[in-house]
Amino acid sequence: MTGAGVVIAGAGQAGFQAALSLRDQGYDGRITLVGDEAHPPYQRPPLSKAFLGGEMAADTVLLRPPGAYAGLAIDLLLGQGIGEIGAGRVALHDGAQLAYDHLILALGARNRALAVPGAGLQGVVMLRTLDEAAALRDRLAEAAHVVVIGAGFIGLEVAAAVSSRGCPVHVIEVAPRAMARATSAPVSQYFSRRHARQGVHFLFDTGVTRLVGRAGRVVGVEIAGGATIAADLVVVGIGVTPNVALAQAHGLRLDGGIAVDSHLLTSDPAISAIGDCAAFPDRRNGGRVRLESVQNAVDQARCVAARLVGRAAPYAAVPWFWSDQGQDRLQIAGLTGSHDQVVLRGDPESGAFSAFCFRQGRFLGVESANRPGDHMTGRRLLGQALALSPDQAGDPAFDLKAYAAGHRAA
Ligand code: FAD
Ligand code: NAP
Repeated sequence: MTGAGVVIAGAGQAGFQAALSLRDQGYDGRITLVGDEAHPPYQRPPLSKAFLGGEMAADTVLLRPPGAYAGLAIDLLLGQGIGEIGAGRVALHDGAQLAYDHLILALGARNRALAVPGAGLQGVVMLRTLDEAAALRDRLAEAAHVVVIGAGFIGLEVAAAVSSRGCPVHVIEVAPRAMARATSAPVSQYFSRRHARQGVHFLFDTGVTRLVGRAGRVVGVEIAGGATIAADLVVVGIGVTPNVALAQAHGLRLDGGIAVDSHLLTSDPAISAIGDCAAFPDRRNGGRVRLESVQNAVDQARCVAARLVGRAAPYAAVPWFWSDQGQDRLQIAGLTGSHDQVVLRGDPESGAFSAFCFRQGRFLGVESANRPGDHMTGRRLLGQALALSPDQAGDPAFDLKAYAAGHRAA
């Protein structure tokens, strides 16, 4: 240790939490949190939900009031990108140098760009930052025909905000169903049906060939086959790519993100990586994963902070996710993507059900629509590595909650 302390690159959800947890856990060295955005750390989830709907002001999405950082002895450098990592120091874009004993990379991800002609027209927007959300909210107030490209989380949450205003909205998706990467077919179908009832028009299995403009502004979206859908606002939500360039230039190992070990250390023992940018070993399912969620950012930050104050433990948190879409809440516990069997509990027609996902009979996780109890039980089961069979999951008489709680007490 040189007394230089911890430098955190990226002042988003993970970077903020790392700084806070270091202080919470008793770290008394210097903490410098460096972010390239102009705003103090803020939450992204409301940007596609309450903020977009006008129910939240910009200052209420901040994770702490701007004045709080001095009180926590956290040096917050905003509007300053880190441009280079050297041995025991980083260089900011303005040329200033910062020494570190330990560097935490919390660089997040950036939106994938739509690679078709016309993507640069006015009225074609993406949503990642507070500034982009504020611009989108203003444009939504005046839009007459909105097209959303991508039926992932952003696409569906934005579509819900648009349809709730009574504005026509089309959602174009290359995959055959909504949220295909994140959810099983019954859950996709439930959510697309709910959106359709609110007036959202879906086009699945459909690629975009170009965006049509007039006088520099978007007026339509041309889809494969040649048809054009009228649009004066196009929201592109087609996924993200992790920010790895800084790590790559420093020679850190990459593997679908910045590769880290079970303790979230990169291939350089003085550098950790957390959150959307980090690809870590999946202890439950094997292989390496990179997750894009608040839970992952927060729990990985806590894990690294604990290691830096001498309480090292492998990263073992149960992954979970949520998405609010109109009146519906989706909650996912575990990583369900590789399932080969889905068992329903509850009836989709009732508006509240869960899809329990299995692979070769092994419980992977549960996707719940408006059934928070199943979600919490699923997290408990996964946290304790408790076996659950497809028959148990599908039996309405089997008391899942008592099963998970009984084992917890044992
Ligand atoms: P980020 O929060 O993206 O922070 C990374 C920061 O690092 C950014 O500010 C970036 O500009 C900065 N940075 C990058 N490079 C540099 C550099 N060289 N120097 C300095 N700074 C740099 N997740 C959920 O679980 N539930 C939700 O409901 C949900 N809703 C979402 C809604 C929206 C609109 C979006 C965009 C995301 C949502 N997410 C949600 C995902 C969640 O917000 C992310 O997974 C989480 O923010 C990841 O935290 P992070 O710190 O890894 O990345
Ligand atoms: P996403 O959830 O990965 O969804 C992107 C969707 O767009 C995928 O279904 C993808 O299909 C599709 N797609 C890709 N290329 C396309 C194209 N050219 N035309 C039409 N569709 C295309 O990502 P996102 O919705 O853009 O969200 C961005 C980030 O914000 C992610 O990190 C996400 O987790 C986060 N976020 C999270 C939440 C939440 O957790 N509630 C809410 C909002 C945002 P393929 O899978 O086939 O590529």
